[in-house]
Amino acid sequence: MKHESKDNIKSLNKLLNRRGFFKSMAFLGLVTLSTTPLHAKGSKKQFKYQDSPKNGEICKDCMHFEPKSNTCKVVEGSISPNGWCTLFRKPPQ
Ligand code: SF4
Repeated sequence: MKHESKDNIKSLNKLLNRRGFFKSMAFLGLVTLSTTPLHAKGSKKQFKYQDSPKNGEICKDCMHFEPKSNTCKVVEGSISPNGWCTLFRKPPQ
């Protein structure tokens, strides 16, 4: 009987340790999720950004362009309204 209760205590301790581990991992996941941007911007070089339009495509007509700040939602740095990159997309109509 005494041996059984020691085993039960050991099992309970193992269970509590596992629960603690999973709670810690869940907390860590939430912290990571809340501190990481949903999407990071890419570099101008990566998307072949240029300061001039290409084939009639131009940043000021792109769905990613932010005219108030002359920035882009997906490419880092200051963006010319007259620029272009490989991520150019027209806004949905
Ligand atoms: S995705 Fe490319 S084309 Fe569109 S605004 Fe950004 S830099 Fe310009």
